[in-house]
Amino acid sequence: MPLKSLPRLATLIALLLDFQQASGAPPARTEQACQAIANVVPDQIAFASGLSKKAYDAELKTYWNVALRDIKPTCIVLPITAEHVSATVKALHQFPDVKFVIKSGGHDPNPGHSSISDGVLLSLNNMRGTTLAADKKVAFVKPGGPWTDVITPLAKEGVTAVGGRLGIVGIGGYLTQGGLSFLSAQYGLAADNVVGWELVTANGSVVHVTPESHPDLAVALRGSGEQLGIVTQFTLNTHPIDQVWGGYRIFTSGYRDQILQGFHEFVGNPSADPKAAIIVDSAHILFNSSFYMVYFFYDGATPPKGAFGKLGDIKPTLDLCKTRTYPELLAFNSLGADATGLRTSFRSLTLPYMTDRPDVYKEIESAFSNLTNSLTSKSYISMGTLAFQAFPNLIGKQSEKRGGNAMGLSSQDKNRFIIELNFVWNKAEDDKLVWQIGKSLTDMVEKRIITNKTSSSIVSETYVPLFMNDAAYDQEVTSSYKNVQRLSQIQRQMDPYGFWKRAGGFKYQA
Ligand SMILES: Cc1cc2nc3c(=O)[nH]c(=O)nc-3n(C[C@H](O)[C@H](O)[C@H](O)COP(=O)(O)OP(=O)(O)OC[C@H]3O[C@@H](n4cnc5c(N)ncnc54)[C@H](O)[C@@H]3O)c2cc1C
Repeated sequence: MPLKSLPRLATLIALLLDFQQASGAPPARTEQACQAIANVVPDQIAFASGLSKKAYDAELKTYWNVALRDIKPTCIVLPITAEHVSATVKALHQFPDVKFVIKSGGHDPNPGHSSISDGVLLSLNNMRGTTLAADKKVAFVKPGGPWTDVITPLAKEGVTAVGGRLGIVGIGGYLTQGGLSFLSAQYGLAADNVVGWELVTANGSVVHVTPESHPDLAVALRGSGEQLGIVTQFTLNTHPIDQVWGGYRIFTSGYRDQILQGFHEFVGNPSADPKAAIIVDSAHILFNSSFYMVYFFYDGATPPKGAFGKLGDIKPTLDLCKTRTYPELLAFNSLGADATGLRTSFRSLTLPYMTDRPDVYKEIESAFSNLTNSLTSKSYISMGTLAFQAFPNLIGKQSEKRGGNAMGLSSQDKNRFIIELNFVWNKAEDDKLVWQIGKSLTDMVEKRIITNKTSSSIVSETYVPLFMNDAAYDQEVTSSYKNVQRLSQIQRQMDPYGFWKRAGGFKYQA
C-alpha cells in the first residue's frame, strides 16, 4: 500500500470508530432491538416509515431546540403505562450495545440528552395527567406534557405544585434535574417537593419510592437526572395558591446600572420576602444592541411596597406585570418562547453573592456582550440572553427541611445567584461558535471569581454547585455536588451493570 494512502485510511478508520461510538451499535442491531420492543409493546412504537410514520414525525417536532428534530432515532417507543416502560427496559437488556434515551417534554436543548440518532427514543410524552388527592395535600403527576397541564387543574382546587416559571416547560426532566420555581424561596426546589416516585429501575422492576421507604435514594432522585431510573409518576406536595402578581417589564440598556444594582440588593436582602421572585434577562441582539426583560413574581394579588427593593421602582419602557391567576401568569410568560423555530443552547454557572462586589454583574455582562457580538454581527437571526437568577439561602433552608436533595442544598447555604446563558440562532454552521462563546464566558467568570485567590473569603466559603436544569452537556454538573461520592455509590447500587450509562444525560463518574 502506498504510504500516502495511510492518512486517508487513518481518517476512514477514525470516521468508522466515531460512527460506531456515536451510534452505539450498528443500525441493524438497533433495528433488531426496536423489533424486540415492538414484540412486547406492539401498539406503543413508531418508525420513520410505514403506518406509524405520522406519530414518529409528530414526536420529533416536540423538541424545543429545532436542531434536535434532525436527530433521527431508529424507533420511538411511546409508552402509556409503567408496565410498557418496564417491558421496554427488559427488551433493551437483550441488546447491551444499543443506545437509548429517555424524553419527557424535550426541553433540554443539549443534543444527546433526550435525543438520539440510530438508537431507541423512549418518550414519555403520552404519559400525561395530574390527579389531586382527596385531602388536596399531594398531587400525582405523570412525566409527559407541559407544566400548564399540572398547574391549571390544581389552581381550580386552590392549590399548586412547585414547578416551571413558564407553563410550556416539560415535567419529567425538570423534576429529575432539580427545578427552580417562582415558589422556591418559599418551598425549595421543585424536586424538594417530590414525596413519591413510581420508578422503573435498571432491571425493569416498577418500584414505589418514598423518603420513608428509601431515604437515601429519595435524596438522590432530587437532582440526579435520569441515571437512577425512569420516573413514570411523581407524587408532589401541594401548596395553596390564589391570585398572583407578575409578568415582565422591558427596560432599555440605559437602565443598566439601576437594574444590576437592584438585582444585587435583591439577592443580598437579609429580610427578603420569600413570596417575591425575579429573573433579570439581559438580551443581546444585532448591532451590539441590548435591552432588559425583568420577570417579576409575587405570590399574592398585590406585592407589598418594597417587595422587590429598588428594582421594583425603576420605571420601565413597557410594563406587562399585573394581577392574574397562576396559570394565566405561566401562560403569559410562555408567549413566544414555545415556537422559537431556532437552534438553542443553555449554559450555566452558580456564583456567590459578594457584598463587596456590586459591579460583578456588569463585568460579566460586558464580557457576555463582547463575546456574543461575534455571533449577532455575523448572523442577524440570533440572540444571546444572559439571565441573572437569584438563588437565595432561603431555598437551602427549605431543601433541608424537606429532607435534602442531590445538589446538597442546606440551611447553611449563603446567598448565591445563577447565571444562565441562552442562545438562539438559525444556522448549523454557527453551532461551534455558540458553544465557544458560552464556554469562554463561563471559563472567564470561573477564573476571575471562583478560582481567583484574591477574591474575598466569601467566595471560598460559598458552596456553588452547578444547576443541572440550565447546564450545557460538557459541564461537570454532578462532580460539583458536595456529596458526589455517596451519590455515585447509590447510583452504582441502583445500576450495577451500567444500564443507564447507555442513555444520554449528566452522569456520576464511576
Ligand atoms: C422555555 C424553557 C423554560 C424553562 N424554565 C425553567 C425554569 O423555570 N426552572 C428550571 O429549573 N428549569 C427551566 N428550564 C430548564 C428545564 O428544567 C430543563 O430543560 C428540563 O430538562 C426540561 O424537562 P423536560 O421534561 O422537557 O426534559 P427532556 O428534554 O425530556 O429530558 C431532559 C433530561 O431528563 C431526563 N428525563 C426526562 N424525563 C425523565 C423521567 N421521567 N425519568 C428520568 N429521567 C428523565 C432525560 O433523559 C434527559 O436526560 C426551562 C427550559 C425551557 C426550554
